[in-house]
Amino acid sequence: MAEKTEKRVAVVTGASRGIGAEIAKSLAAQGRHVVLVARNLEKLDAVKAEIEADGGSAESRTCDIADGAAVAAMIDGVFDDHGRLDILVNNAGITRDNLSMRMSDEEFDDVINTNLRSAFVACRAAARPMMRGKWGRIINISSVAGLVGNPGQVNYAASKAGLVGMTKSLAKELAGKNITANVVAPGFIETDMTDVLPDAIKEGVKTFTPLKRMGQAVEIASAVAYFASEGSSYTTGQVLAVDGGMTMC
Ligand code: NAP
Repeated sequence: MAEKTEKRVAVVTGASRGIGAEIAKSLAAQGRHVVLVARNLEKLDAVKAEIEADGGSAESRTCDIADGAAVAAMIDGVFDDHGRLDILVNNAGITRDNLSMRMSDEEFDDVINTNLRSAFVACRAAARPMMRGKWGRIINISSVAGLVGNPGQVNYAASKAGLVGMTKSLAKELAGKNITANVVAPGFIETDMTDVLPDAIKEGVKTFTPLKRMGQAVEIASAVAYFASEGSSYTTGQVLAVDGGMTMC
C-alpha cells in the first residue's frame, strides 16, 4: 500500500460525462482527491484536465462496472494506492427501455447488473477502507423512476428502487462505524441519457414539472456535495429527490 493520501479520496463512477462529471467537479472543489471511473479514458482525462485547471486533484481509472470482479479490483486498487477511500458515489447507469411485455431477459438483467449489482459490489468493497478510516460517505444515484415508476422502464425503475432499499439497509448496517449512506434521486436532467428522448416527451416533462424545466447536472452535483460533506454527519438513510418538484406529492 502506498503512503496515505492527505486529502479525502472520493470515487465517482460514470464520471466521464453528464451528472457524474459535475459530481466529480463539485467534490474536487470541496478539496477531495477524486477518482474518475468509467470506460472511456479520453473523456475521463478531459474531466480530469478541467478539474486540474481549476486547481483540483483527480485521476482517471477505466472500469466496466458491469463486471463485478473489475469493480471490486478497482476499489481495492484505490485503497492500495492511497491508503484510504472516504467517499463513494455510485452514479454510472444505463437504460434499456421497452414495454414490459416486450422486454427481454437480457434487457432486464443488463440494467439490474449495471445499475444495482455494481453499486452493491462497490459499496461492499468500499465499506472496509471506510471502517478503517472511521469515516465514510456513500451516495447512490437513483431516479424518480425508482420512486414512482415509469412506463417502458420496469428494469430501470426496479434497479433504481433497489438502490433505495439497499442504501437504507447499508445506512443501518454502517451507522455504528460513522459511515453514512444516502440517495439522490434526479428527475429529468439534460444529459446524453435524456438527449435521445423525443421532443414531445421533453415538452411533457416541462409541463408536469412544477419548476417548468428540465434540471442541470450541476443541480444534482450540489445535492451530492451536501451528502459528501463533513456537515452532513447526522444525515443517513435519506432519499433526496432533485426533480423540480415532480414527486413532492
Ligand atoms: P449519461 O450521460 O448517459 O452518462 C452515464 C455515465 O455512466 C457515463 O459516464 C458512462 O461512461 C458511465 N457508464 C455507463 N455504463 C458504464 C459501465 N458499464 N461501466 C462504467 N461506466 C459506465 O447519464 P447521466 O444522465 O449523467 O446519468 C447519471 C446517473 O444519473 C445514472 O445512474 C442515471 O440513471 C441517473 N439519472 C439520470 C437522469 C437524467 O435525467 N439524466 C435522471 C434520473 C437518474 P462511459 O460510457 O465512458 O463508460
